[in-house]
Amino acid sequence: MKRGSTAKVAVALLTLGLALSGCSAVAAERPTVVVTTNILGDITRNLVGGEADVVVLMESNADPHSFGISAKQAAVIENADLVIHNGAGLEEGILNHVEAAAAEGVPTLAAMDAVEPLKFSHDGDDAADPHFWTDPSRVELAADAIAESVVEHVDGVDSTVVRSQAASYKAELDKLVASMEENFAAIDAGRRKLITNHHVFGYLAQRFGFELIGAVIPSGTTLASPSSADLNDLTGKIRTAGVVAIFADSSQPERLAQVLAAEAGQDIAVVPLFTESLGTEGSGAHTYLEMMRSNTERITRALS
Ligand SMILES: [Zn+2]
Repeated sequence: MKRGSTAKVAVALLTLGLALSGCSAVAAERPTVVVTTNILGDITRNLVGGEADVVVLMESNADPHSFGISAKQAAVIENADLVIHNGAGLEEGILNHVEAAAAEGVPTLAAMDAVEPLKFSHDGDDAADPHFWTDPSRVELAADAIAESVVEHVDGVDSTVVRSQAASYKAELDKLVASMEENFAAIDAGRRKLITNHHVFGYLAQRFGFELIGAVIPSGTTLASPSSADLNDLTGKIRTAGVVAIFADSSQPERLAQVLAAEAGQDIAVVPLFTESLGTEGSGAHTYLEMMRSNTERITRALS
């Protein structure tokens, strides 16, 4: 009897061992979708759900124009089943890694390719504006492209599940657009004027009817810096247009915006927004939907 019990225990342990190693083998083989920015990362997680691992490279409260990655993260990109990036030159710090992975045969998708791009409107820059997520209607198009790319390139995902999750998320985006329109309707036509940290709101302005007066950093990237002539020019525009608020970005220093507001010599509020990075949990911008709702509320409160 004793021998029998021991054998049973041994078999049980062996089975348990196999089951455990089986589990970890499955976990290690789960497909991986790598996403560059945290905004696209959140959107992709909503579409993919539990069908694959989604690895997001950019931290919370970071700058998409300048963030870099470690050698370990670079290896994750090279071994990904799919890489989703923004495109149009947004992620300057890691573009070489995305290109290297593509050259190695890793499927890549630039979310920008799914949307009708706008050109930057400011002087001397006619490049495509990468900040398409400030228009949630364009995000719906990108969501479709991401979901279809996952279905096409990532083995083992259930296409019905991914497409159904995409449909649910797009319904949330529709609700977001409706609530943004409703909120912004409270702002008088004469006060629908935006000054931002850099040129980040081109798509939002076009979609919801705002006028872009200028940007503290007169560029489509945060990597540029304004000259004193640029700042004088903007101070003039602020006075002429009767601007009441400057919208800063939470992940960028506010100092220049504060100087401008003081220089313009009017009662001008500096209002921080989450324009191109999600915040941490509890920040009011932990997800893309939360971020857009917070910004809508803050813009409406500042301008109405
Ligand atoms: Zn930007």
